[in-house]
Order: sequence, then C-alpha cells, then structure tokens
Amino acid sequence: MTAVTPAPRPCWIAGRSEQGTGVTVIRHPYDDSEVASVSVPGPEQVERAVAAAAAATVAFRSTPAHVRAGALEHVSKRLLERTEEIAEVITAENGKPLRWARLEVARAANTFRFAAEEAKRFAGELMRLDTDPAADGRMAMVRRVPRGPVLGIAPFNFPLNLVAHKVAPALAVGAPVIIKPAPRTPLSALLLGELLAETKLPEGAFSVLPVGNETTMELVEDERLPVVSFTGSGPVGWSIMDAAPRKHVVLELGGNGAAVVCADWTDLDFAAKRIAMFSNYQAGQSCIAVQRVIVDRAVADDFLGRLVEAVRELKTGNPHDPEVEVGPLVDEAAAKRVEEWITEAASAGAKVLVGGEREGSTVAPTVLTDVPADAKVWAEEVFGPVLAVSVVDGVDEAFAQVNASAYGLQAGVFTRDVQVAFRASSELEVGGVVIGDVPSYRADQMPYGGVKSSGFGREGVSSTMNDFTEEKVLVLTGI
Ligand code: NAD
Repeated sequence: MTAVTPAPRPCWIAGRSEQGTGVTVIRHPYDDSEVASVSVPGPEQVERAVAAAAAATVAFRSTPAHVRAGALEHVSKRLLERTEEIAEVITAENGKPLRWARLEVARAANTFRFAAEEAKRFAGELMRLDTDPAADGRMAMVRRVPRGPVLGIAPFNFPLNLVAHKVAPALAVGAPVIIKPAPRTPLSALLLGELLAETKLPEGAFSVLPVGNETTMELVEDERLPVVSFTGSGPVGWSIMDAAPRKHVVLELGGNGAAVVCADWTDLDFAAKRIAMFSNYQAGQSCIAVQRVIVDRAVADDFLGRLVEAVRELKTGNPHDPEVEVGPLVDEAAAKRVEEWITEAASAGAKVLVGGEREGSTVAPTVLTDVPADAKVWAEEVFGPVLAVSVVDGVDEAFAQVNASAYGLQAGVFTRDVQVAFRASSELEVGGVVIGDVPSYRADQMPYGGVKSSGFGREGVSSTMNDFTEEKVLVLTGI
C-alpha cells in the first residue's frame, strides 16, 4: 500500500476553508518531529479575505444580538465537547503540558461564553442633556458601533485563548475579524475556524490567514482594517503601532512579573508552591509568569528553603504525559538563549540554587539569588523557567524594586495587610495587582494589560468589546 500524505490543513478565507498557494510545516517543540503541514494563502486569497471583511461590515453590524450570541455559545459548547482533541493539538504545536493545554481550552470556552453573555447586554447608554436650561427637551442616545473589521495578530504561547480574546469580542459586537496566528502555532486557530464555520455568521465575518511577516505588515497598513489587536513581543508591537498611526491599535506585550512576599505573610508554603508553579507554568513562557521574587528578609530563609523544595518537585518531561508540569520551550533556539542568560547571570555573581541545565529544548526549572540588577534574567523578559530572587528590608524597598523595571504588566503581593494592598494598587506601576497570589492570575473577563513597555490598552471580553467599537451619539430633540 502507498502511504497517503495528508493534505495541508486548509486556511479560512471569508468563512470558507481553502487550500492556499504555499505550505508550511509545523514541528513539535519537544522532539522536533513533524506535527502537520499548513496551507499558506496567496495574495489573491488574502485580498479576498480583506475585501469580504470590508463588505460584511454594515450587514454584520446589524445582525440580531441573539444570532451573534448563539454563534458564540455554539463555539463555547463545541470547544468543551472537543477538549481532548484540541488540547492534544495545542500540546503538539506549542509544547505546553497537556494539563495546561486542557486548561487553555476551558478558558477559551469561557471567553466565548462571556462574549455571548455580553453580546446580549452590550448597547450603549441614554444620557440626559437637560442638565442645562439651554438643552431642555433634549436627550442623547450614546450607541457603541463597531469601528470596522479587526486584524488580530496572535503569539505562540496561548495559541487558542489569545486568538479567542480577539475573535469572540469582535463577533460579539458584530465586527468582522481576520486572525493572523503565530507561525509555529496556527493549528488551534485553524481548528477554531472549523467551529466558527459551523455557525450562521455572515460570509466575511472571519478569516484565519497563516501568512508571513511581509503580508502581515501589508494587512497592518491596509485601511480597510481600522483596528489592529496585537499580542506578542514589544519590538514587533511598537513597530506595528508606528506603521499604523491612524488606526486603533491595542498592544498586549511582554512582562517580567514580580511577586512580593511581605514579612506579614505566614503561609510561606503556599507562597512558595504558587511561585514555583507559576514561574515554570508553560516553561515560563507566559507574559505574566513570575520572573522576579522580592522577599522580605524576615521570612527569606524559611521561604527560600520551601521554594527550592517546591521547584525540585515539579515534574519535567514529555508534555503529552498527563503528569508532566513543565515541558519544553517553543524550540531549541529559545532554550539556548535562556541557558545563555542563566550563564551570564552566574558569571556576574548570581548563585544557582537549583536547575540551570538544558537538554534539547527543555530547560530545568531554575532559581537564582544574588542576581545583579542589570543581568538579563532580572532586567529583561526571560520567557523561560527561571526565577530570580531578591531579599529586601520592608515594603518600600520591595515596591521600589517592582517599579525599577521597563515592564509593567501585573504584580503579585503576598500580604494580609489591607493598607499594603491599597498601597500596592496605588503605587505599583503595573496594569493589575493580585493580592495573596502570584502575578500570573488572569480571569478572562477582567481588564488585562500593561503600562510602560508592557503595552497599550486592555484586553478582556468587555474591555475589548469597548475597544472594538466607538461611541456614536443620537441627539433627540423635543422629548
Ligand atoms: P512575536 O512578537 O514574535 O510574534 C507575535 C506575532 O507577531 C506573531 O503572529 C508573529 O508572526 C508576528 N510577527 C513577528 N515578527 C513580525 C514582523 N517582523 N512583522 C510582522 N509580524 C510579525 O511574539 P511571540 O514570540 O509569538 O510571543 C511571545 C511574546 O508575546 C512575549 O513577549 C510575551 O510576553 C508576549 N505576550 C504578551 C501577552 C499579553 O497579553 N500581554 C500575552 C501573551 C504573550
């Protein structure tokens, strides 16, 4: 019998599956084996996707809310029904352990469900104008109308849920959406296309285009796509904003998340276990992974002993093993870079308490102390399973260290003191503060995003629905 090579996974052009004009091969981050091949659309197909999105704008805007909500509910339900299969796809393309891939599918189902619920409520507001005698008899209706088709550019680290965070709010408000997935991880986005195609959304409502950088920049500059929602690294994000100065651009960028352990925090075991887990969750490839721990001297020795023990207990290995907690990085080049950064810090005087080794694309969970402030593992985004610990005296010094960073995504503060919690919320230069837990906590309905180099704008179902729309006033006279 002759072996039959499966056809490349089709892309989605204006809601229909099509083979493209090129092919790209997706490789497994753990062992570099071939996972699948993916169809890359050609210029004519890309043009058709954009033209269809532009053409669908007005009709889609006026689809009834129950139709949009129904489509979103359908996708949510189907994600849950197909969890195991989709989780295996995420693990195979991204390398994250199956347990985290299953969680990502559940979160994406939630993102679609929240969007379905919001779609039923989202309308705008009535505003009194007769607060002034000159406006007696006048009233304003402030409606929120879609700005137009959305271009969503996604990173590799949450290939399903971060795509969901662009698709679901867009469809909820009635805005067509074109998704450009990350080159290493297009499979989950293409699978999502399959679920969207089962709905009754109008033609042109969505496309999934696994295209390269040059075509991506053409899309960024295309005036028919007035909204660009980008999640990824800083240099790429800011260059996209520069290339599209007249567009509504949202940037969700990198971080180097800090967790502060205060002297009043007594459950050091809990703090150590949470920090160990969420510095290594997805091998540290999360924008809100814990990268820096700032611990008060009063509890530092006790905490560090527990932290090292908790890190040693993490099970590393093949991400398809359901017991594995820490898998590979996205590729060997990424793992080599992280190894180099560890070596750089160690040569500059940092102590390696645990880890530091690399095997292929896997880096052992690593804890460092005495890290110089200019070492990359402290100052940059490491995006690997590396934790740098600093010992401080009191909250003032701890908060100053959190803020002495170019990034500002989220911070976690382990304290029971409500005054410290309020201070953290006021003084920490980040988009969000988590009290009693790691900075890595994100609920998909909450506003999420960063300040400084970490981004511009917020994501989260209703924040994004607001972002993808603009206010339009209807003034009523004589009422
Ligand atoms: P990346 O910037 O390399 O890629 C992101 C997207 O941009 C991909 O689709 C990629 O193909 C595209 N891209 C890359 N270079 C391009 C170019 N020159 N021209 C046009 N398009 C280009 O990021 P990544 O490695 O996929 O993801 C990791 C980064 O994303 C980290 O910095 C991480 O912190 C960040 N991230 C941020 C958030 C957040 O919500 N703040 C969430 C997840 C990831």
